[in-house]
Amino acid sequence: MNKNDIAVARTVAALRERVHGWRTEGARVGLVPTMGALHAGHLALVAAAQAQCERVIASLFVNPKQFGPSEDFAAYPRDEAADLAALAKAGVDLVFAPSVAEMYPDGFASTVHIVGITEELEGAHRPGHFDGVATVVAKLLLQTLPDAAFFGEKDYQQLTVVRRLVRDLDIPVRIEGVPTVREADGLALSSRNVYLSPEERRVAPQLHRVIQDTAAAIIGAPHSVAGNLEKGLAALRAAGFLPDYLGLRDAGDFSAMTRLDRPARLLAAAHLGRSRLIDNIPVTPG
Ligand code: AMP
Repeated sequence: MNKNDIAVARTVAALRERVHGWRTEGARVGLVPTMGALHAGHLALVAAAQAQCERVIASLFVNPKQFGPSEDFAAYPRDEAADLAALAKAGVDLVFAPSVAEMYPDGFASTVHIVGITEELEGAHRPGHFDGVATVVAKLLLQTLPDAAFFGEKDYQQLTVVRRLVRDLDIPVRIEGVPTVREADGLALSSRNVYLSPEERRVAPQLHRVIQDTAAAIIGAPHSVAGNLEKGLAALRAAGFLPDYLGLRDAGDFSAMTRLDRPARLLAAAHLGRSRLIDNIPVTPG
């Protein structure tokens, strides 16, 4: 193999054979699940995995089950050659890139559904999304059985769902959250940022700014959560967004909060032209 080559497993059997070999050597194995179209946020997950594990696997799989019928599954950016080159350069040991037929063979009939946390915020606006996420993540974890799997805080509700999933189903994998990687102007890196027009790209960082301002206002007035969320929504509209939600949730169990009396997360989703952006930050009582 020359230095740009990287081992790719296309089947669960090939993946398991490789992992079995590493286990025999006593190596710790880390998994970084992705949908490809890789950027520095994904590579931060790889670096976090490499800091804890001798062997790191990245998966590339655009999961049809987590896209709604009117969402961008067909148009989702795909560039496997560029992704493999980036993962080779990052020193990833193996890429797992199954086909849809390998992941969901004919007759596939199971869904992992988590109640409660999947029904609000992102779940309320993308019905079925977290069923698709939980189903594919359960499969990836059981196919690989890594020591740890690494997920971005960028998708904080997803991270919370995955933590619930492994706890409820006794999946013996440690789940590690990795802080969001941002552009210099605050915009969270996302594979979907390529959809933004130059004008939208100029407006996009306002999402992070409004979340920060709202968090500061809530820290300053911990009993005025609802009023500050309303102000934040108005600020998003004024900046040119069509917000889906701006919500404060317990950082651990994702329960709703009417006042800031424990560590929380402030999360938002908003449409900007044809794009939909999400972001979130931690909010700690002052
Ligand atoms: P995706 O390919 O968009 O499904 O994302 C794969 C993983 O990368 C998920 O765990 C995401 O939360 C994570 N991720 C995406 N964007 C970022 C970012 N800007 N910073 C950190 N992690 C991210």
